[in-house]
Parts: sequence; C-alpha cells; structure tokens
Amino acid sequence: MVIGIDMDDTICSTNEFIIKEADRYDKEVLGGSGIKDINAYEFTEMMGWPKEMKGKFFADRLEYIMDHAEIKEDAVDVINKLHDEGNKIIIISFRKDKYLKDPYKLTIDYLNRYGIKYDKVFVNTGTKADECRENNVTLFIDDKESHCEDVLNEGIDVLLFTNAYNHDEKRFNRVDNWNQIYDYIKEKYYG
Ligand SMILES: [Mg+2]
Repeated sequence: MVIGIDMDDTICSTNEFIIKEADRYDKEVLGGSGIKDINAYEFTEMMGWPKEMKGKFFADRLEYIMDHAEIKEDAVDVINKLHDEGNKIIIISFRKDKYLKDPYKLTIDYLNRYGIKYDKVFVNTGTKADECRENNVTLFIDDKESHCEDVLNEGIDVLLFTNAYNHDEKRFNRVDNWNQIYDYIKEKYYG
C-alpha cells in the first residue's frame, strides 16, 4: 500500500520546539522575559508578541527549528518497518519557501540524517489531496484537521496524529504515537 505522511508534528515535534525557541529568542534577542501565557493558543500570544513578530522570528529561526526539531519516538523504526514490508512511503509536507531557503532539501536532509526510508517527498503543497490522489495513497497521516478533512473527502483513509491543539477533534481516527499507527495498519490492511 501507499502511505502518505506529514512531516511537522507527525514525524518530528516542530511546534514544541517553536515555543522553546521563541522563549529563547524573546530572552536573548528581544531582551524580554520569555513565555508570558503558557495556555495561549498561538505562540505569538504565548510570548505576548505583536502579530508581526511571527514573520521576523520565522525568517530568523524557522530553518534552524525544522532542522533541529526532535524526531518522534519510534517514527524511524515504524516507517522503516513499513517500508521494508513493501509499502511505499510518501512524505507530504506543507512547508513553504516563504521562510525556508529550500524546503525540499531541508526535509530530505532531515529524513536522511535519521535514516528514514521514503519513496517520494513533496513540499510546498496545497491541500495535500492532489498529492494523495495522484500517488494512489491508501492511508494518510497528519496532525492538522484541515489536511485530514481534504484527503478524507477524496475517499482516502486518514489518521489524525494527536498534537497540542487537536484534542477536541472527533471526525477522524486518532493516533497518539507511531506504534498505534503500525497496529492500525497491521489490523486493517495486513489481514
Ligand atoms: Mg503537521
């Protein structure tokens, strides 16, 4: 089968690292005191930054953050096991060149560094439904509800990977970790 997989907050813990680096940036570059409201929804609100700071911070740091974000537990083992079992692995990322020099190179360098086996990588996508349809994706895994919705509307099976913001979402099958993804595939597709 063909498995489509998102990158940020599905393979690597990007959002968590954005918050950590925003805290450091506030203290080291802006002379602030770091996180002001840990419960805020968005990291600029968390930092008490005006909206326009997001662009400046991302222009300065997003490349570094995506390059250094922690890999999710068991992601390497499970993806490689799925690949070795004959499945095609397609990475489908929304990463844009707005704040990144070369989102494709950044992504494949990261995957290669961790020895993740893949067949294709797409970045700079739109809804992700086109890539899924054109590559005959059977199952798509993403932490963002809107991407899951667009792909599900194509009649493709989706799994929502739990992140800090999607706890209330009830429309999709949910997974909290990579072992649950493997179990889902084994039960539903290996027969
Ligand atoms: Mg994501």
